[in-house]
Amino acid sequence: MTPRVMIVEDEEALALLLRYNLEAEGYSVEAVPRGDDAETRLKETTPDLLLLDWMLPGISGIELCRRLRARETTRTLPIIMLTARGEEQERIRGLATGADDYVVKPFSVPELMARVRAILRRSRPEVIASLLRAGDIELDRETHRVRRSGRELRLGPTEFRLLEFLMKSPGRVFSREQLLDGVWGRDVYVDERTVDVHIGRLRKAVNRGRVKDPIRTVRGSGYAFDDQFAGAAN
Ligand code: CA
Repeated sequence: MTPRVMIVEDEEALALLLRYNLEAEGYSVEAVPRGDDAETRLKETTPDLLLLDWMLPGISGIELCRRLRARETTRTLPIIMLTARGEEQERIRGLATGADDYVVKPFSVPELMARVRAILRRSRPEVIASLLRAGDIELDRETHRVRRSGRELRLGPTEFRLLEFLMKSPGRVFSREQLLDGVWGRDVYVDERTVDVHIGRLRKAVNRGRVKDPIRTVRGSGYAFDDQFAGAAN
């Protein structure tokens, strides 16, 4: 089952960034730039989660949130509000209006993705897969444990997120820049060589004493989780 997320955000660049990242996580995404249009659309269809900007043309995010909570079909719809800095009062009002969570702009995309997942896991456990499997590797997104052939691997937090990110899209080659965006976050400025360092550590932890390497280096492009790995013996 593909979880459906609706983005209500009038800042086009941000809406695009969110769409890109949510789709990379396997969500199906619909974006609406106006509050009033979103209200109309939400009468026709109910997504699994709503990312709702505060300041919107049409009707404001907070007013939309209030109206959604008053309607039977959207009373329990998970809502994450996106707020600008310095809207402390409004944030408090937002939570009082019934939003489940909020993030303050500019926010870290990986952190928002983690919150989306956490809320969906609570509210729609059936649409969130907590276990990623490939070959003899098993990654549990809930407990943050990774096993290979049943043995637990010791990974640092960055190596864990890197492996999770790669395992979500087997076969897809990611550039170092895409990995930095997806794993470290856009607003974090680290050298692209950092990616190589952490890939090295990840490989060491995952491959300890084994022949088959699940991480593929694609010269001149980047890295991928080897889609041949899933079918191969260790
Ligand atoms: Ca806005």
